[in-house]
Amino acid sequence: MSDSNQDLFDVVVVGAGNAAITAALAAHAEGARVAVLEKASKDLRGGNTRFTGGIFRHTYNSVEDLLPIVKDNDAPRDIIADPYTADDYYADMARVTGGRSDPELTKVMVERSYETVCWMADLGVPFEFSRVVGGVSTGDQEKIKLAPGSAIRSLHEGVGLSANLFRLLDEADIPVLYETQAHRIVTGPAGEAAGVEVRGPEGGRTIRCRAVVLGSGGFQSSPNMRTSYLGPDWSLVKVRGTRFNTGDLTRAALDIGAQSYGEWSGCHATPIDSDAPVYGDLKLTDKTNRLSYLYGVMLNLEGKRFADEGEDTVLYTYAKMGKEILKQRNAITFQVFDQKTVPYLEPRYSTGVPLEADTVEELVGAVDRKYGHMGFDKDAFIESIHSFNAACGEGRFDPTIKDGKATRGLDPEKTNWAVPIDSPPYRVYGVTVGITFTFGGIRINTDAAVTDHLERPIPGLFATGEIAGGFFYQNYPGGAGLVRGAVFGKIAGTNAGAMANGA
Ligand SMILES: Cc1cc2nc3c(=O)[nH]c(=O)nc-3n(C[C@H](O)[C@H](O)[C@H](O)COP(=O)(O)OP(=O)(O)OC[C@H]3O[C@@H](n4cnc5c(N)ncnc54)[C@H](O)[C@@H]3O)c2cc1C
Repeated sequence: MSDSNQDLFDVVVVGAGNAAITAALAAHAEGARVAVLEKASKDLRGGNTRFTGGIFRHTYNSVEDLLPIVKDNDAPRDIIADPYTADDYYADMARVTGGRSDPELTKVMVERSYETVCWMADLGVPFEFSRVVGGVSTGDQEKIKLAPGSAIRSLHEGVGLSANLFRLLDEADIPVLYETQAHRIVTGPAGEAAGVEVRGPEGGRTIRCRAVVLGSGGFQSSPNMRTSYLGPDWSLVKVRGTRFNTGDLTRAALDIGAQSYGEWSGCHATPIDSDAPVYGDLKLTDKTNRLSYLYGVMLNLEGKRFADEGEDTVLYTYAKMGKEILKQRNAITFQVFDQKTVPYLEPRYSTGVPLEADTVEELVGAVDRKYGHMGFDKDAFIESIHSFNAACGEGRFDPTIKDGKATRGLDPEKTNWAVPIDSPPYRVYGVTVGITFTFGGIRINTDAAVTDHLERPIPGLFATGEIAGGFFYQNYPGGAGLVRGAVFGKIAGTNAGAMANGA
């Protein structure tokens, strides 16, 4: 192993997703010589970021606050957006994580969310209003009500976000070393991070630097780590995004004394098409998601409902619904809709092939033909639809709010949007679980410095994005992942750049 490029770079950033690239750009702005290491080939670059819907959850007081972000890329003519204050963001984090989210890290994420997204927009990342995911048509056909907090997304979603971030790296002359897997953090005499060992196209070597920023994602793509930390049931699940996030630097950081933090047995996992590929497909990106279960019912192979499909609006339940599906036999479930609710299905359903029939009995026959080899209870399926229909209470169905239109007498109840399935043709989508990212990771402080077990910063070592634990537990509010990565990416890059400059 040679040390040929001693001190070629001030800051080495590991990873090439949203978290890493925002860090690289911030370190460059400090005048540091920066390099980005990407384990993937150029074709497959960009991590989970490239697969995302591009939604950023941040605070705002009015539609006017969103204009400096969307700039000339969009116009608010058809938009309704209620304010989303810091208190709303804190309340959402507390509610979905059971109050476990690290208060100091959450404070930084929330308080700097708006300014960080504005910073990205000013750097040249284009954004638009997020009409499709979470946005709901109001009775007035002209208007779209945006999901609280998730009002904007990057133009052309994750594919556009990734392309624009790489363009900004190019414009800043920041080199990206592809097919270069970092696997060990080199330390200096004081225990400080002083470089990384990599396996690249030219073989193994050490890249020395003054500061290292880890933005290499979670460990969801490692069957080994999934099984060890999430549990044996997670060994075979499909991965929604990149295949390259296998926890290499999580392990490397722990090896040099970083503290493990957060919910190591927890992850973000969502309902996806049962025919989705084993790893994310860059042509489909996030389009295999099946998140309109709010408006129908979900049944398992036993023909039984197993969750409250209407517990909350989609961006507050989708990340934990995957775990409920994994508990069902073969991790296979069925989303059932009728013509009253089909118009409310997300456009992403168009990438799937539904089973359709004019009677519930014919529908069950179609399900049996495709999934019967797994053992499927047709009679229980029919009975569940009938008892669900009979249990739907009075009240007006309103998809723009939690309408309180609930079932009475079922276990579990459906607590909102409970409308009988009685308008043929009926539709079924076969759905399984897809893991998105893991919640556990290494500990960082509010300066994005990686800390040891005494909460002392490991000098020269910073981290951001999915690799950092302590933010999300059990569940997650949609759009907080990209914002968490960008807020701490900017902080990590700025501090790493300043440190490399001797500050
Ligand atoms: C389908 C899908 C949709 C999503 N939609 C959204 C959304 O709309 N909004 C939202 O907030 N979040 C979304 N997420 C969550 C999303 O994963 C995160 O918010 C965010 O993209 C994570 O960014 P990151 O930079 O931490 O990780 P990534 O973008 O995954 O980047 C990790 C990088 O590290 C590289 N890497 C890994 N190991 C090594 C190594 N050993 N050496 C060198 N490089 C390495 C990878 O190749 C990759 O480039 C979605 C995720 C998926 C899969």
